[in-house]
Amino acid sequence: MRSENIQWPTTIFLIGYHVFLAIALPIYFMHHTLSGAMLGTTIALVFASGLAITAGYHRLYSHLTYKAHPIVEAVLLFFSSVATQGSALQWCHDHRLHHAYVDTDRDPYSIKKGFFFAHFLWMLRAPKPIDPKLVADLMRNKMLVFQHRYYGLCMIVSNLIVFLTVGWLFNDYWGAFLFAWWVRLFLLHHTTWFINSLAHTWGDRHYSEEHSAVDNYILCLLTYGEGYHNYHHTFAHDYRNGIRWYHFDPTKWLIWILSKVGLAKDLKRVSDFRIARQLVVDHKKRLLEKVRSSIHDLGLEKKVSDAGEALLERLTALQTLYDRYKKIPRQEAHALRDQLRTARREWKAHWKEWKKVIKLVNQKPGLQI
Ligand SMILES: [Zn+2]
Ligand SMILES: [Zn+2]
Repeated sequence: MRSENIQWPTTIFLIGYHVFLAIALPIYFMHHTLSGAMLGTTIALVFASGLAITAGYHRLYSHLTYKAHPIVEAVLLFFSSVATQGSALQWCHDHRLHHAYVDTDRDPYSIKKGFFFAHFLWMLRAPKPIDPKLVADLMRNKMLVFQHRYYGLCMIVSNLIVFLTVGWLFNDYWGAFLFAWWVRLFLLHHTTWFINSLAHTWGDRHYSEEHSAVDNYILCLLTYGEGYHNYHHTFAHDYRNGIRWYHFDPTKWLIWILSKVGLAKDLKRVSDFRIARQLVVDHKKRLLEKVRSSIHDLGLEKKVSDAGEALLERLTALQTLYDRYKKIPRQEAHALRDQLRTARREWKAHWKEWKKVIKLVNQKPGLQI
């Protein structure tokens, strides 16, 4: 990286606070013991600011997956200023570029430039000026424009409020300064940076191979639910990243709870039919690629092709019936219920057949699907 391309204030800040922690933490532990309450508060602050980034900067502003009450926006913006990751406008601008040009030169944190580039080196470069066309909708939001214009002040004041409050609560300003500010920032930064680095390298591509994003369940625990990144890059306008109820996605749960108490609305979710279709289409493509390139078995190729087509046909039939069922009045719906039950049974039978075909191809040497 040439020196004229380096963004010196960010570089000095990021490297500087890591060095500060490396020196200050051993000195602190030589003279003090960390209390459970201070540790708990630090973790709680990591979560509060991490969720503000994922529920606010990411799912609310970058992808518009739901609408939030202004009070929620204000709280999210306060904690995302505490998170010290740049203004919402700049963050969303870069993130929209990331999705539009993922894995290419125009992706600001492309994993193709290396793990550490995607993790944090990209931030040391001078940021691309904001293209107003890319965030025109966000520039109409007065709170976002204010936060962008006075970002430095918002960041310092919000962090001072947090640090002084924790210091006052525990009567330990030195501990609060070290843990509730800088250790918290260290943990938060690296867990959010994992989304650009680890979530593009370590895991499985369940929904699409068109991009490098992967699903990684361990990563979900560290990234407030953002570890289902292959799903997210495939269906970015879904407010969920983990689509099953048991998937660890606290950001999704927070948005859902807010909607239940009237503080969020218009939650966007991709239909199960679309998700299933994407899965079948993607798996069929991968299976055929493997059969054609390394197995060379025309019989197996036909089997994959026919089973995939039959499954997609069943899915279309089920979806058509379901759409009709939803539109007709309740008292007339009973006639369709039997047909729906049959269509669902047929879909399940074909799905079982499809699993057998996948197993058959997976038994052959080469890539596993
Ligand atoms: Zn990504
Ligand atoms: Zn995204």
